[in-house]
Amino acid sequence: MSLFVPSRFRNQPCTMRNILELIYPELEHAVLAMGHQAFRARQLWQWLWRRGVREYGPMTNLAREFREDLAQEWAIAWPEVTEVRTSSDGTIKFLLRMVDGATVETVLIPDKSRYTQCLSCQVGCPMGCSFCSTGQMGYVRNMTGGEIAAQVLVAREHLRGHGLAVEVKNLVYMGMGEPLLNWDEVRKSLHILSYPEGLEFSRRRITLSTCAIKGKLDVFGREGLALPAISLHAPTQDIRKRLMPGAAKWPIEELIKALQEFELRPRERVTIEYILIRGVNDGIEHARQLVRLLSHLKCKINLIAYNAGPGIAYEAPDPAAVMAFEEFLRKKGFTVTLRKSKGQDIAAACGQLKTEVERTQGERKNEQGFING
Ligand code: SF4
Repeated sequence: MSLFVPSRFRNQPCTMRNILELIYPELEHAVLAMGHQAFRARQLWQWLWRRGVREYGPMTNLAREFREDLAQEWAIAWPEVTEVRTSSDGTIKFLLRMVDGATVETVLIPDKSRYTQCLSCQVGCPMGCSFCSTGQMGYVRNMTGGEIAAQVLVAREHLRGHGLAVEVKNLVYMGMGEPLLNWDEVRKSLHILSYPEGLEFSRRRITLSTCAIKGKLDVFGREGLALPAISLHAPTQDIRKRLMPGAAKWPIEELIKALQEFELRPRERVTIEYILIRGVNDGIEHARQLVRLLSHLKCKINLIAYNAGPGIAYEAPDPAAVMAFEEFLRKKGFTVTLRKSKGQDIAAACGQLKTEVERTQGERKNEQGFING
């Protein structure tokens, strides 16, 4: 009997369960159920998540019999990389295919000597934000916890395989999908990614970016597994409704009130994400409205200049407008960061690469579940 999971189990539909779907206590339970000792689970976890090994054969500190048992029952199924694009600024974007053929994106964003990885959590997205390529493609399905976490394995293997010594230091749930609409699986992925014997990302190195979903935001806050970043993008309910019809079902004033009660640790603040779009929300009158809206919230504001995407009618803001907006907020006492758009030459904004590839391949399907703005 082979000790190796045959290559057909990688990246192709298979009936075996994927061992990467298990959080640590589940893995330990599975190991005990196979009649092996609990400490073997720790060794196995290290091979899977710390060393990123895709087959049982090389796991040489595990008994041969144990590896054979594992290979009988559990596949190690990573997403398949179908496209990689590297930008002139060092941004690397991957298109990944899951075992059922669904595709998602993940992006590595360079920052000095490290990378921040942007993770997807749904195939498509039902929120329908009008400025977002993913929002325009509609919702296909939730990703599983293992699929979400395995994006990090793929990116890390790419960096190592290309002799890039830099590591993935920070994670942001800011790719395709709304994390709080897939909270159970996102929570699982957070447990996997933060577990000490594996990838070991601490809470302060993981940011979860959300439009904020009523009834879920407080649950996320209570569990404290990641730092919050709120995709606000508008200073008024009317503008938010236009930009984010799904999210705006929760009125903006109620959302801000909920954020005032969000559970944070000492010295932590909520990050407010605000994409500046020319002529829509980038004027000084909008900055003034934003100041009024956030005046009682302990927060910092992350401004992002919109990265124009194919098939979307919005335009990038004038650099002078961005500076004026930033300056206005600073003068009012806010901590403001300006995130530069990276990877513009490789369709790096959320959903753009997938859209472009699918358009090229003529595979675009009429997907269901799109909340139309
Ligand atoms: Fe979904 Fe985020 Fe795009 Fe809105 S911005 S449609 S929540 S992926």
